[in-house]
Amino acid sequence: MNRAGRDRASEFWRDGRVLQIWQGQILARDGALILQNSTNFQSLNEAIYLGDVDDQHYFVINKEISEPEASQNLREIAAHLSLAELEIAVTALAIVNWHETHTHCPRCGAATKMISNGWVRECEVDGSHHFPRTDPAIIVAVQDRNGRICLGRQAIWPEGRYSNFAGFVEPGESLEATVLREVKEESGLVVKDVKYLNSQPWPFPNSIMLAFEAFTDNPELAKPDGVEIVDLKWFTKAELRSAIANGTLSVPPITTVSGKMIEAWLNG
Ligand SMILES: [Zn+2]
Repeated sequence: MNRAGRDRASEFWRDGRVLQIWQGQILARDGALILQNSTNFQSLNEAIYLGDVDDQHYFVINKEISEPEASQNLREIAAHLSLAELEIAVTALAIVNWHETHTHCPRCGAATKMISNGWVRECEVDGSHHFPRTDPAIIVAVQDRNGRICLGRQAIWPEGRYSNFAGFVEPGESLEATVLREVKEESGLVVKDVKYLNSQPWPFPNSIMLAFEAFTDNPELAKPDGVEIVDLKWFTKAELRSAIANGTLSVPPITTVSGKMIEAWLNG
């Protein structure tokens, strides 16, 4: 999606397509977004401009969805969407989540209003401008020197679910330092050779997941923290494939960052 035309949103509105979101749910049916004509809505004032895909311009409106059966959770429909639809939906949900949680000025507490086609909020008292924020989080594929991966299990997850270690970046912390800290906290492992892999926006409510791999020379030190992580296991590729195939273990779906990381590791 091309986001460059934001200043010209009013020109694009007349032929724009609008995605509707309400209470975190997206208007969609049968695995496809329902995109309405802008003429179905009163005015551009309530819309946020997202960008264009092949000169078709997209907006989002946060408004009650009248057909409850067409109100769907993005996590559940993500796998069915095209890449362009996914970017539209992820951007729409992230920006709507931001507006919903930033209704007041962090400086003076007065109400803020949406300006700049939805990409700024302005304080009605002191005029200060506030911009959408994205919270960085890291996720790590921890490996040893013998081709194994270490996965952990959180108590709140479904029975048998294992995944990579993850956590939020703290103020003043580099991404690499976050990787070392989170892995140590959750697994007791000391890692090095940290390498960035890729990223994925994660608008639940407004994160970006930054994926890394890292290696340990002392896999025997793996010990769950007992709070967030209740069990840890080392797997060879053959062991993990076999556990997934026979149903004794599950990993996150392929639409998630962790699911993609595990799949990529299994496929070398
Ligand atoms: Zn203010």
